[in-house]
Amino acid sequence: MEYRRLGKAGLKLSVLSFGSWVTFKNQLDDRQADQCLGTAYDAGVNFFDNAETYAAGQSEVIMGRALKRLGFPRDSYCVSSKVFFGSRSAPLPTQRGLSRKHIMEACHQAMQRLQVDYLDLYFCHRPDPDTPIEETVRAMHDLVQQGKVLYWGTSEWPAEDIIAAHSIAHGLYLTPPSMEQPQYNLFVRQRVEQEYAPLYRDYGMGTTVWSPLASGILTGKYSRGIPADSRVNLAGYEWLKERVENEEGKQRITATDRLKSVARELDMSVTQLALAWCLKNPNVSSVILGASQLQQLRENLGALAQLAKLSAEVMQRIEKAIR
Ligand code: NDP
Repeated sequence: MEYRRLGKAGLKLSVLSFGSWVTFKNQLDDRQADQCLGTAYDAGVNFFDNAETYAAGQSEVIMGRALKRLGFPRDSYCVSSKVFFGSRSAPLPTQRGLSRKHIMEACHQAMQRLQVDYLDLYFCHRPDPDTPIEETVRAMHDLVQQGKVLYWGTSEWPAEDIIAAHSIAHGLYLTPPSMEQPQYNLFVRQRVEQEYAPLYRDYGMGTTVWSPLASGILTGKYSRGIPADSRVNLAGYEWLKERVENEEGKQRITATDRLKSVARELDMSVTQLALAWCLKNPNVSSVILGASQLQQLRENLGALAQLAKLSAEVMQRIEKAIR
């Protein structure tokens, strides 16, 4: 495993991390979650990603039980949660958003579900137009002061809101955000590569990026239709299925087919090529892997060993295949 600093922070995260969106509870039970977390940890993964909203809190419950059973020393891994959407299917107005009230309560509830005394990383899962950024920055700063959160960050905030958070924190001697959690893959690049460029340069922000395989499209397995056991067939994920089946989804599947020949020549799977491509970006601190089966996770962890094959010439060929 390789470890990268979280932007300018001293924290070193494994470049491949492991998250539980969709999978924990919906596709993986306790036993399978144990196996995945154990396999990831044994490969050197030191960051496990979660959120209050995943499986309405149940994803954190499963991860908490697994961490307890597996007994990893608490100082050997990082665990995250995210606040915004709430942990219930129909949250009340006080049970969601980025108000001081919800941030404080959501943090305590996440720690309980995860069975930990502090969260290493805590993300504001989306911007909240109904809460002043100063209120959110103050609440996050207070959690840091209380030792309940070590690093706080944002997820899918516009760069201008993140810059506003930094200038508020700077002016009031509060703790600024250390990291963003944006989507990043061969098809979704603008934010990470362009919009956020000033955040790395001027504020030393790190990134933990999500959906590196575009929810599985970049594995190439959608070329012959949707596999029965895919996440897009789960109840509640019809919106994801629509994204695979619409015109843009079809184009992405075709582009992935073109990438397969590049991957074949390099003696790796297209999945590994797509993951290694994310790792080539030095502003990516950690690529969060998702897996609904242990064998998927094993294949994905193998991406790091392929990274050295992505020469400048290969990167150009990838670019050509994807355009
Ligand atoms: P990916 O884009 O990598 O998709 C993962 C899914 O693709 C798997 O669950 C599986 O789905 C399929 N897959 C993965 N590997 C393989 C393989 N080797 N062979 C075949 N199929 C494979 O990542 P996610 O979308 O899961 O995102 C990763 C993590 O990022 C999440 O767990 C979460 O922690 C975080 N995240 C954060 C968000 C945010 O807003 N901050 C939003 C979304 C995710 P299946 O088997 O069902 O087809």
